[in-house]
Amino acid sequence: MCRQISEGCVNRGCGHYTQTAVHAIADCQSSRCRLSTSHLPSCRAPSCRCNSTYGPDIERTTHTLPGLCQQCFNSPTPHIY
Ligand SMILES: [Zn+2]
Ligand SMILES: [Zn+2]
Ligand SMILES: [Zn+2]
Repeated sequence: MCRQISEGCVNRGCGHYTQTAVHAIADCQSSRCRLSTSHLPSCRAPSCRCNSTYGPDIERTTHTLPGLCQQCFNSPTPHIY
């Protein structure tokens, strides 16, 4: 299963990771994965039953920010620390 290598920041207030950019795709090199360059060109819909979703992002934290992330900041319920 391929994964996206993303870049983002972590908010110190809530510890959440906010993705700011997707850098690259980590190719799993599997012929059973439609997202991979190793997927066989002959394997196509409707017969293709290969994986077509990305795995969990590989998160690369570039910087940290004070306070809460946008999502927590906009949340109507107060954040529990
Ligand atoms: Zn893959
Ligand atoms: Zn396939
Ligand atoms: Zn948050």
